[in-house]
Amino acid sequence: MRQVGHFIGGKHAAGTSGRTADIYQPMDGTIIGKVALASTAELDAAVRNAAEAQPKWAAVNPQRRARVLMKFIDLIAQNNDALAELLAREHGKTIPDAKGDIQRGVEVLEYSLGIPGLMKGEFTDGAGPGIDIYSMRQPLGVVAGITPFNFPAMIPLWKLGPAIACGNAFILKPSERDPGVPMRFAELFIEAGGPPGILNVVNGDKEAVDAILDHPEIKAVGFVGSTPIAEYIYARGCAAGKRVQCFGGAKNHMIIMPDADMDQTVDALIGAGYGSAGERCMAISVAVPVGKATADELVKRLIPRVESLKIGPSTDTSADYGPVVTKAAMEKIKSYVDIGVKEGAKLLVDGRDFKMQGYENGFYVGGCLFDNVTKDMSIYKDEIFGPVLSVVRAETYDEALKLTNDNEYGNGTAIFTRDGDAARDFASKVQVGMVGINLPIPVPLAYYTFGGWKRSAFGDLNQHGPDAIRFYTKTKTVTARWPSGIKDGASFVIPTMN
Ligand code: NAD
Repeated sequence: MRQVGHFIGGKHAAGTSGRTADIYQPMDGTIIGKVALASTAELDAAVRNAAEAQPKWAAVNPQRRARVLMKFIDLIAQNNDALAELLAREHGKTIPDAKGDIQRGVEVLEYSLGIPGLMKGEFTDGAGPGIDIYSMRQPLGVVAGITPFNFPAMIPLWKLGPAIACGNAFILKPSERDPGVPMRFAELFIEAGGPPGILNVVNGDKEAVDAILDHPEIKAVGFVGSTPIAEYIYARGCAAGKRVQCFGGAKNHMIIMPDADMDQTVDALIGAGYGSAGERCMAISVAVPVGKATADELVKRLIPRVESLKIGPSTDTSADYGPVVTKAAMEKIKSYVDIGVKEGAKLLVDGRDFKMQGYENGFYVGGCLFDNVTKDMSIYKDEIFGPVLSVVRAETYDEALKLTNDNEYGNGTAIFTRDGDAARDFASKVQVGMVGINLPIPVPLAYYTFGGWKRSAFGDLNQHGPDAIRFYTKTKTVTARWPSGIKDGASFVIPTMN
């Protein structure tokens, strides 16, 4: 059985805490490995190592740092098939979807190659007599990322790429459910010429997370995961005086206007609602058709599509989606479907009894579709994170907009319409961080920033794009007077431009 330890100071390190967690293969429910859970002392060793390596890395000129990342990107491409296979095996998503997971992460590495330009400061020539002002961005030192199970390649790369490009040393605490790909990234970074100690992976659970939050040498923490943990990490990390950004859960609504192209809408909903078994923070979990005729037509078309979803093991490249991540996740999703029925929602497609032939112990949930869901039901309010789509009928556009705005989450949303006025009004008024118009999963590209609103994100800067460079650097502003011979005597008033 595979034993996964940590990666510290450029080398593998076996865990010494004596605590481990099982790594499952969701497609057949077998245990395929054990991952070490770090103690506070092991985290501290990684931080000391990183702190020692960081100043030298920060002194490497940014173009050379970018070259290491360029080689790293190259090596990820060379190992793409094996990485996707490993990712799918541990997570459960299909191999084509795993390749997308890696690719969206690589795109942020590609963005980070521009670091010589991205980190440039500003300069004002002649701000006063002989006075110039300039600003520079400097790395923070040692920074950390705590990441979720559902994108084990993309989210670690979103964090470590910009952080390392900026000259920081990085401690990654990936999800204990699928640590294989993050560990391979650490190896490939060394193969790419990255210095030991700059990219460290410390596996673990709450103990490792708390050790990160409390460690005085760690200057910034980026977290992605569920909202309750996001809130906890934000509060504890901020109290310890760190820079913290936390991205949490979601309940993403898609508004379907009466004039929407129904073929396009149904395709979009099927992909965004059920892709990756609904385990995406940008999955659509609530469809809001406007008007009875729109709702009836939508539901009529959705039923056969949900019934005919092709579910398969992660190795089946033709499957629409694979198993969910754990048995506990499978049971939680099914129990929400039970609750939905009890609460009075109309279950149009019931995937609770789905069994995958030949993989009977795998963690599968068939596609579920609810109609007549109302906003007081827990299947509407809670993030289910599974292949369950709820249809909440709205009589008017204003009602659909209000529903979206009143929801406690605000990660992603979409509107499907041919009406430019409605689309523009929606984009302007909706209280959500990422908006799609006739696009169901509006994950911004690497050169824009990614982040939700309301209880989907905590902190004031987003992930990737220009915000990542701001998050992982601090600004220093220098006011200089040359020539040095100017003498204007002592002044006891605050300098102004008068
Ligand atoms: P999770 O919150 O259970 O775990 C995330 C990380 O926190 C993991 O590394 C885990 O080890 C750690 N953790 C778990 N419990 C902890 C505790 N009690 N104390 C300290 N650390 C703890 O999330 P998950 O199940 O891995 O991921 C799914 C969630 O992530 C969903 O809610 C999803 O919406 C969200 N997500 C959000 C985004 C976004 O950008 N907003 C992106 C992806 C996933």
